[in-house]
Amino acid sequence: MFDENCLFCKIIKGEIPSEKVFEDDKIYAFKDINPAAPQHILIIPKIHIESLDMMEDQHKGLFGEIMFRASQLAKELGFNKEGYRVVANTNDFGGQTVHHFHLHLIGGRKLTWPPG
Ligand code: AMP
Ligand code: ZN
Repeated sequence: MFDENCLFCKIIKGEIPSEKVFEDDKIYAFKDINPAAPQHILIIPKIHIESLDMMEDQHKGLFGEIMFRASQLAKELGFNKEGYRVVANTNDFGGQTVHHFHLHLIGGRKLTWPPG
């Protein structure tokens, strides 16, 4: 369920403080400590899944809920119409630094493409 050494597991347990924007029994969402845009939220499963690369058949519903939550939060926070981006950096080449799956929800400014 939890990984003792995982930063985001510690955030879920409340051992490390975070700015919560949403929580239910399966999902936790909080503000990124180093925002890349005016709106930058991380949405994570409460169970420790290392990355999108570790997704299994049993996780399909959970990942669907995480994507749904991104859509809902963008609406609730009022930056959906202008637009936003959801990103799941995965493993080394994907630039993942925290190895607990997280969806970045980024908005509030015009974003450029392609990423670096
Ligand atoms: P990634 O590089 O995709 O693994 O993203 C990890 C994200 O976690 C980065 O955007 C960091 O700014 C963010 N982060 C790291 N530590 C914390 C923390 N204690 N609270 C909130 N966000 C954090
Ligand atoms: Zn974890």
